[in-house]
Amino acid sequence: MIKTEQKGNNEMLNFTVGPVTLEESVLKMGQEQIPYFRTKEFSKIMLENEQLMLQFSYAPEGSRTIFLTGSGTAAMEAAIMNVFNDSDKVLVINGGSFGQRFVNLCKIHRVPYTEIKLEQGKNITLEKLSMYEQAGYTGLIVNLHETSTGVLYDLPLLAHFCRRNKLFFLVDAISAFLADSISMEAMGISLMLTGSQKALACPPGISILVLSPEAIDRIEEREVTSLYFNLKDALKDGERGQTPFTPAVGILRQIHMRLKEIAVTGGVEAESKRIATIAADFRKKIKGMPFDIVSESLSNAVTPLHPWKVSAYDLFTLLKDDYHIWVCPNGGELAKKVFRVGHIGALTLEDNTTLVHAMELAVKQLEYLD
Ligand SMILES: *Cc1c(COP(=O)(O)O)cnc(C)c1O
Repeated sequence: MIKTEQKGNNEMLNFTVGPVTLEESVLKMGQEQIPYFRTKEFSKIMLENEQLMLQFSYAPEGSRTIFLTGSGTAAMEAAIMNVFNDSDKVLVINGGSFGQRFVNLCKIHRVPYTEIKLEQGKNITLEKLSMYEQAGYTGLIVNLHETSTGVLYDLPLLAHFCRRNKLFFLVDAISAFLADSISMEAMGISLMLTGSQKALACPPGISILVLSPEAIDRIEEREVTSLYFNLKDALKDGERGQTPFTPAVGILRQIHMRLKEIAVTGGVEAESKRIATIAADFRKKIKGMPFDIVSESLSNAVTPLHPWKVSAYDLFTLLKDDYHIWVCPNGGELAKKVFRVGHIGALTLEDNTTLVHAMELAVKQLEYLD
């Protein structure tokens, strides 16, 4: 077998959770020269990007979109800095490393918070929320799909909780957007985040904030001790399709191509259905194999797996080196126990067959070595 080092990335099958495999058209666009951006032409692209994002997230009337140059975490930090301050008291759902990141951000930016810690793989329940009802909170923060563990939280449950407690509802949908169904309007989401390298299947480098009128009001009212992350200017310049600073122009053009393609091939429903089909097919194909799915509630974006007899990390390494397939290893304590298979990006049902076959062989190989 040829080792990864000798293989180009284009020959790797990518089942990670991002960056993911790009469609041919989006990939080709990446080879083009980067245009000057203080132009009517680029403004038009950005205004269309904004409209398509509002449409695909079912944002309420009067909502806006900001495209921030920076990975998903930039949007998480910008959101915390611009919509909360020390007069707030927020709940943070913390069931994994992305939940922990919000906890850290609240700490750094001095936003008073209470974390609701969840065990690995567990969903939020009404019971776990009950002690926080009518308890003086002003906001709730959740990573809708906690990508590190593969848990998709109960969105309607959280939506109802926020509605009856009148909470600002901040939803990190970085890996859930396009993969799972989300309506900002129906779920009363005040601010939704996503990023370019997950189901949007573009290169990493752009994060996106979709802001309801309530979020816009908060941004306008609050002082932010930051230049780059002060969203007031972004909102103002965005009215004419511009950004305060040089954005990742190339990626924004690729996002434009992707959003338009989704729009003409059936919209957000068709796209999440396509991803759901890939996920369901994979889950069907691994039935009877020596793996457990370790999440109470799955997103279409990812399947977290615990191999019965072999190390998850060894399996990741072997699949990479001998089979030219990337799956996603887990970090920390779970590194040997859990790995994740992503279903986002330009993947096909045949790719699933290739992966499942490789997993079969790789497990045997590892058991034999043992
Ligand atoms: C990928 C991801 C992020 C952002 O990570 P970056 O590496 O900063 O792009 C945040 N939250 C969730 C749930 C994610 O899946």
